[in-house]
Amino acid sequence: MQLNELVIAIDGPAGAGKSTVAKQLAQTLGIRYLDTGAMYRGLALAAQRAGLGPQDGERAAEILHNLELDFGPGTPPRLMLNGEDVSGLIRTLEIGDLASSLSTFPQVRQEMVRRQQAMVAKGGCILEGRDVTTVVAPNAHVKVYLTASLEERARRRAIELGQEMEYLEVRQQIEHRDHRDINRSESPLTVAPGAAVIDSANLPIDQVVERILELCRKVTA
Ligand code: C5P
Repeated sequence: MQLNELVIAIDGPAGAGKSTVAKQLAQTLGIRYLDTGAMYRGLALAAQRAGLGPQDGERAAEILHNLELDFGPGTPPRLMLNGEDVSGLIRTLEIGDLASSLSTFPQVRQEMVRRQQAMVAKGGCILEGRDVTTVVAPNAHVKVYLTASLEERARRRAIELGQEMEYLEVRQQIEHRDHRDINRSESPLTVAPGAAVIDSANLPIDQVVERILELCRKVTA
C-alpha cells in the first residue's frame, strides 16, 4: 500500500484544527480532501434560503435529495451547491449552528453518509468531521480524534472570525455546539475504537501533521 492510497479519517470538536491539519496532509500526500462539515453547512445554507429553521430537518432532507453538493478544484476544495461556489457563505457561526441542528436528523445523516461513503470508496483521501471515524469510514487505515480545550478552540475560532464576534460569545456557541454534537442520539461525536487521540492545544499544527504522518508510515511499512 502506498501513502497516497490511504484513507485517513479525523474526527473532533469544532476548532480543534481538523481542517488545517487535513488540508496540510492532503497536500503533503497528494490525496483528496473531503470536508464533511462543509457538506452539512452547504445543506444548512440551502435550507436557510428555503426559509427553513433548526427544527425542519425532515424538509431539509427532502431538499438534500435534489441538491448537488460537490467539491470543486482548489486548495482547500471549493464547495459547490448546484454549481454555485458557496465556500465564502458557509463559514459563519449562524450557518454552523443551523448545520449542527439539521445534522441531528437521521434522514439528513443517512443521505450525507451515503454520499460520503461513495467518495471514500474511490480510495486515497482524507476526511474530517464528527462521525467519519465511527460511521462514514470506520475501516479507515488511520483514525484520529483531534481535540483541544474549549478555551483554546474558542480563541482560535474568534481569531478566524475576526471582528464578527466577541470571544465570550464564540465560546458559548462552541460549547452549545459541542453539547449537541456529543449528545445527539444519531451518530454522536465520540472517540472511535482504534482512533489515536491527539490534543492540539500545546502542539503546533506542523507537529500534529507529523504525528499523523508517522501513523500513516506505520500502516504502509
Ligand atoms: O466541522 P464544521 O464546523 O464545519 O461542521 C458543522 C456542523 O456539522 C458540526 O457542528 C456538526 O454538527 C455537523 N457535522 C456532523 N457530522 C460531520 C461533520 C459535521 O454532524 N461529519
